Amino acid sequence: PSITRGVTVEIPKVSWEDIGGLKELKKKLQQAVEWPLKHSAAFSRLGVSPVRGILLHGPPGCSKTTLAKAAGHAAQASFFSLSGAELYSMYVGEGEALLRNTFRRARLAAPSIIFFDEADVVAAKRGGSSSGSTTVGERLLSTLLTEMDGLEQAKGILVLAATNRPHAIDAALMRPGRFDLVLYVPPPDLEARYEILRVHTRGMKVDVDVDLKRIAEDTELFTGAELEGLCKEAGIVALREDISATVVCNRHFQTVRKSLKPALSREEIY
Ligand code: ATP
Repeated sequence: PSITRGVTVEIPKVSWEDIGGLKELKKKLQQAVEWPLKHSAAFSRLGVSPVRGILLHGPPGCSKTTLAKAAGHAAQASFFSLSGAELYSMYVGEGEALLRNTFRRARLAAPSIIFFDEADVVAAKRGGSSSGSTTVGERLLSTLLTEMDGLEQAKGILVLAATNRPHAIDAALMRPGRFDLVLYVPPPDLEARYEILRVHTRGMKVDVDVDLKRIAEDTELFTGAELEGLCKEAGIVALREDISATVVCNRHFQTVRKSLKPALSREEIY
């Protein structure tokens, strides 16, 4: 990927099959992303306006970023990735300039996806400060709104945003023509955990005694990121035990499982 300060561009390599579970969600995203980017002429012909912005929300480590990338891969779109926190931390005016510049580059490189991680930082509710001066967040938000409204004429550009705090997002962004599709990305249920474990052991040599179904049952509240970590760590444990090991065994997975606690609690799942 090419990296200019604060933004990376690439055509992502992740595909839908690399994401375990979330069948319905993947289907919805596929329609909302692939169709308008690949068939923008068909939409104009019928006078149908496609979705311009999609907000993905849900707890950390549950594949919001990966989903956005898989959508980009499927649509073979240039994927511009921006971090809300990084934009926010830039010097006065720099964040807005980077936003405008990214939209400009995305128009030139269309079909494109502009992805905002930690979107709540740039799109936070306006405080209505009484001093009359605008804050960094307000200026970024107003730039983002202007750029998104400008997409009316542009074809083949879609804005995706991810957040763990959907309630912090300013209502102005939720109007039609902006983020008109809001999707909750939940932590994985039993079946999804099994599929995630399958994805992350695909390239590993695992012993026949490894029962991924049992591990899935035993990892309630684990996020996709934590399950990925569990698989990697099991491999390390096997090598630590015997550097000439040829397979990763059930006991290695169990050792790691026992040492881990999920970061999510039941209350955090909404
Ligand atoms: P954050 O809110 O912290 O940015 P996120 O929801 O965007 O998190 P990702 O960055 O997409 O989560 O996922 C983190 C890691 O976890 C990825 O490397 C991915 O491989 C793995 N992962 C998460 N969910 C899944 C899943 N459903 N299937 C396969 N891997 C997953």
